[in-house]
Amino acid sequence: MNLVLFGPPGVGKGTQGMRLAEEFGLAHLATGDILRAAVRDGTGYGIQAKAFMDEGKLVPDDIVVGMIEERIEGAGTGFLLDGFPRNVAQAKALQSMLARHGMHIDRVVFMHAPEDALIERLSGRLICRACGFSFHRQYSPPRVAGRCDRCGGELYQRDDDREDVIAERLKVYRAQTEPLLAYYQGSSGFRQVDAAGEMPVVYAALKQAVEG
Ligand code: AMP
Repeated sequence: MNLVLFGPPGVGKGTQGMRLAEEFGLAHLATGDILRAAVRDGTGYGIQAKAFMDEGKLVPDDIVVGMIEERIEGAGTGFLLDGFPRNVAQAKALQSMLARHGMHIDRVVFMHAPEDALIERLSGRLICRACGFSFHRQYSPPRVAGRCDRCGGELYQRDDDREDVIAERLKVYRAQTEPLLAYYQGSSGFRQVDAAGEMPVVYAALKQAVEG
């Protein structure tokens, strides 16, 4: 099974995507995670991407499309795309790369939540440096302050989860990513999930969208 999860920043693609990928045995391909790893490792791509990411802008399409193509080829039992495609040009590039590899997308799931909830989630978010699991200062704090419940890794706040960058990321989402709704809405694999509720409720709705 091959899935695309899309929706605004802070809607829960990463958290829910990680769980879905584990349960369905899929490779979790999150372009944001892949780019942050490239920045941390100081690779050529990472150096090019950093300035865009720090400002909340999209990284150029050729960089992310190349990164995804490499990984899709190696995803044996299926993949879950999280944060890609992020604009219509990337969606078209995805379609042609899948056609080249004789693959297709089974479900495109659009997750939505009101903007005030997104801002609240992003500004309180803490992420594990080691495993990428997300916590929230108020709504899902770790058992031990600063440490991941799952693996004991160090928790940090992403540089782009600062208020001014969050506002820019939401603006970029509305201008560049939201048009994907019109692109995918008519296709038979398209589903919508209300992601405003508590994590287990949203997860159950996502599972239903993926299986139904
Ligand atoms: P995310 O972790 O999905 O919130 O992504 C963090 C940042 O990485 C974004 O604000 C962009 O700068 C960059 N990024 C992630 N995915 C993409 C993509 N598909 N296209 C362009 N830039 C991306």
